[in-house]
Amino acid sequence: VKCSRCRAPAQVRLPRIKAGFCPDCFKLYVERQAAKAVKQFELIRPGDKVLVAVSGGKDSLGLWDLLLKAGVRADGLYIHLGIGDYSVRSGEKAKNFAAQRQVTLHVVDLPAKDEAVPDLAPFGPRSFCSTCGTIKRHYFNRAAAEGGFTVLATGHNLDDEAGRLLGNVLRWQEGYLAKQAPSLPAEAPGLIRRIKPLIRLDEYEMAAYCFLSGIDYIIEECPHAKGATSIKYKQVLHHIEALMPGTKWNFYAEFQSRRALFAPGPAISSASPDDTDAPPLPDARWRQCSVCGQPSWLEICGFCRLKGRRAGSESPD
Ligand code: AMP
Ligand code: ZN
Repeated sequence: VKCSRCRAPAQVRLPRIKAGFCPDCFKLYVERQAAKAVKQFELIRPGDKVLVAVSGGKDSLGLWDLLLKAGVRADGLYIHLGIGDYSVRSGEKAKNFAAQRQVTLHVVDLPAKDEAVPDLAPFGPRSFCSTCGTIKRHYFNRAAAEGGFTVLATGHNLDDEAGRLLGNVLRWQEGYLAKQAPSLPAEAPGLIRRIKPLIRLDEYEMAAYCFLSGIDYIIEECPHAKGATSIKYKQVLHHIEALMPGTKWNFYAEFQSRRALFAPGPAISSASPDDTDAPPLPDARWRQCSVCGQPSWLEICGFCRLKGRRAGSESPD
């Protein structure tokens, strides 16, 4: 098979766009898809100061590489979650990447603050992963506010987002559907806008991109992600995609052009943004967490309630 672009021998086959590429043309294809997503969804605006959330995996390191190549001077943010060996190794990948390219990586060391996710998770209202999300969001917003960043880029790819979309559709989660977009506005001052520039690229493409670009990333998944429902939705989509190449992107893109159908009326925003264990507040008004000062729907934000519950359980009574 020959490269669809330059006729050299193709090494990467992409049935979903009926194309095959040699390594150089494939990298160009990936760069263009990322640039196209940024343009199509207006992800990065003039004057934006971009922070990339890097986990050490292929998506976020590939994303950082793509942004730098495109001339976006983005800093990285790595949150050391304290999930055993997995966190130590993923942190090394992120640090090595930053050192090689001489770019700035901000590190939040949770174990050093006695806030390792495994220590706090038992005090969360929901699953380990949901508590981990609450903690990460807290530090994403905090790092952005402290560093003056205007937008946070995450490595969510097409498989992540199409899989999540499938899950939301199967349960007709209207509130979540309304909010499932490549760009999520900052909902209150002090919260950061979040963007997903890899939305036009899938897992295989990001892995191939990193491999061909010599980006060393952590291959293993977080040990807590095993068996997560999100992975099952992705697997189902892989099957459909294999039978009907192109379905994944169509599913996602056609949804985006109809997302307004789910635009939240006052009653719909079902999930509180700080992942609260309290019932949804239809007429939520933002206030400031009385402990940390971050915007919150309740007197104390989800992150500070988590820490409060742990502190409560430790104090003798
Ligand atoms: P995940 O939920 O693990 O699939 O991660 C989704 C995105 O969140 C990644 O692509 C990163 O952009 C970001 N992320 C995940 N873990 C971390 C971390 N420990 N530190 C910083 N960003 C992270
Ligand atoms: Zn707080």
